[in-house]
Amino acid sequence: MNPLCDLSPTAAAMAARVSDAEYARLLLLPRARLADGPLRERAEAARAWYAASGRPVALARVGEIARVSDDGVDLHGGGVLPGAELAGRLRGASATRVTAVLASAGPEVDAASAEAWADDRPDDGFFLERFGVAVAEELLRASVVALCRQAEARGETLLPHLSPGCGGWELEAQGPLWGLLSAGAASLGPVTLHASGQLAPKASLLAVVGVATRTGSAASVSPRDACRGCDLQPCAFRRAPYRGAA
Ligand code: SF4
Repeated sequence: MNPLCDLSPTAAAMAARVSDAEYARLLLLPRARLADGPLRERAEAARAWYAASGRPVALARVGEIARVSDDGVDLHGGGVLPGAELAGRLRGASATRVTAVLASAGPEVDAASAEAWADDRPDDGFFLERFGVAVAEELLRASVVALCRQAEARGETLLPHLSPGCGGWELEAQGPLWGLLSAGAASLGPVTLHASGQLAPKASLLAVVGVATRTGSAASVSPRDACRGCDLQPCAFRRAPYRGAA
């Protein structure tokens, strides 16, 4: 079994990575903009709180593909990841491995948000909660880029990530994907999976990325989310110019 890889950054680093545009989008603000004034003050308070008190968690584990069928992927060692969407993507790119990724903003966000709501400060609670979601999404992007850079050194690249419940991949895959990540581990930090398929803390995501060895549109990470935010030079698989952090 491949080892569990800890990619967790510092809270301050993650707080700084969340862009205003992404945070505004998750706050459902018109035109995804954080104008100056009370909204920006609340947003910056949430960012500062996370930088000081958050605890982001990013973990990954590689699984070796034994067989790709029409409706799922068999892994060496006995695991199965179900889903025709996943199987089709992996087969199309001749993937040889998958990497399961967990990204979480950490339990402190849920606790602080609940406390704000209980204190009759719903705006503070909402801004904290949405900042946690922004952290989890950005942490997943950053983790995929870090893994892609490791893979490039081996002559491999990563496929676009896929999460259970999104993009045609059934939520039922959450359990098997959790099984791949947690195999042999006492725990996955502060993150747990409920029987319903929901993760706790709430701002947590699971995803899988295929690992492939050839170039081509099917065998590259999303340029917008990865290559444009990755300064690795040279990279045999680059799909778009570097333009700074995504
Ligand atoms: S430039 Fe793109 S393909 Fe190359 S390592 Fe970075 S993210 Fe991966």
